[in-house]
Amino acid sequence: MASRMFRLKGEFAFVILQKAKMLEREGYDVIHFEIGEPDFDTPEHIKEAAAKALKEGYTHYTPSPGILELREAISEYLEEEFKVEYSPDEIIATPGGKAAIFYALTTVVEEGDEVIIPDPAFPAYESVIRFLNAKPVFVRLKEENDFRMIPEDVEAKVTDKTKAVVINSPHNPCGSVLTRSDVEGLAEIALRHNLVLITDDVYHKIIYDGFEHESVVSIPEVRDRVLLLNSLSKTYAMTGWRIGYIAADRRFIERMVVLQNNLVSCLPAFVQKATVAALRGPQDFVKKMVDEYRRRRDVIVDGLNRIRGFKCKKPLGAFYVFPNIKGVGMDERELVEYLLREAKVATLHGSAFGPGGEGYLRFSYATSIDLIKAGLERIKVAIEKLQEAG
Ligand code: PLP
Repeated sequence: MASRMFRLKGEFAFVILQKAKMLEREGYDVIHFEIGEPDFDTPEHIKEAAAKALKEGYTHYTPSPGILELREAISEYLEEEFKVEYSPDEIIATPGGKAAIFYALTTVVEEGDEVIIPDPAFPAYESVIRFLNAKPVFVRLKEENDFRMIPEDVEAKVTDKTKAVVINSPHNPCGSVLTRSDVEGLAEIALRHNLVLITDDVYHKIIYDGFEHESVVSIPEVRDRVLLLNSLSKTYAMTGWRIGYIAADRRFIERMVVLQNNLVSCLPAFVQKATVAALRGPQDFVKKMVDEYRRRRDVIVDGLNRIRGFKCKKPLGAFYVFPNIKGVGMDERELVEYLLREAKVATLHGSAFGPGGEGYLRFSYATSIDLIKAGLERIKVAIEKLQEAG
């Protein structure tokens, strides 16, 4: 077995999900906060477009970067949403945002390079960087900075081996959102130190309280050194369709097209057609979904702050909260196990996202308000029991 295979790590959310499923098979009803996936169904017009495409015979190979119609639709979408111009040959459609992370890092990073990533962060960054025999360098996201990645903290980690910085806003697992001045600061660092910027913007539409999504991609001076990763998974509740994309300078896209050609040849033709319908069709679904997430966020933040030992900031984006549980007096891994066993509530320990997550839990609130309320009540009771016993 090749040693690189042992440097890849899977997401812990799936381990907890499996444990929760085992309890469900034993007859318990478990409330799920562990998996980061929209509970909404994919809008009907997108499903219809896929069905129509199947009937029309979109069941064959397509060009490796994606059909031209799709890349044109992505190009229009980026202009509308990100105010950036990318021509279709600067775009590759990928099997989800996760593949986009793999493609981007594989294309940019050499063995021995250092890559700066947020800590905590989506686990695939660290895993793929290690797979490539490169070194992840963690920048701690601090609660007192609302878990934003602060440019000065990034610059302090730059060495002569640094190749790239991974940016993720809105952020998984913290829900934090970078400001204009944050992304400008990150762009300046990239220019000063000749770095590539990989910006993972899969939650770009899930943002609250009137805040605007800001991305380094909109800063013209760094355009040729930015790889913009995006996905339809979260915005259109299309996690099972496996569709994402990368927009970047041609020199990157050309090599990624060859990588995709070697891996999967192309993406399913009917999924590509449905994606065109998602990007060009009515967008009211997205707004409704985000409004609902905002209501849920308010309920969960409020409820968590009523539990003794929990302190929860109100995040501005994504559908996660990241409460500080240091006041409970229990290691976060043990607390996850305890809540699953005692309250039948599935959560994730913050350290599943990096050492900076010690002392925190992550909740995904992509579930109904009723279930959120029921889950919070169960946690409250379980924590009170713990405190009475201790
Ligand atoms: N990037 C971040 C930050 C994520 O949280 C996720 C999924 O949870 C992804 C990328 C991958 O999404 P997908 O592969 O479903 O497009």
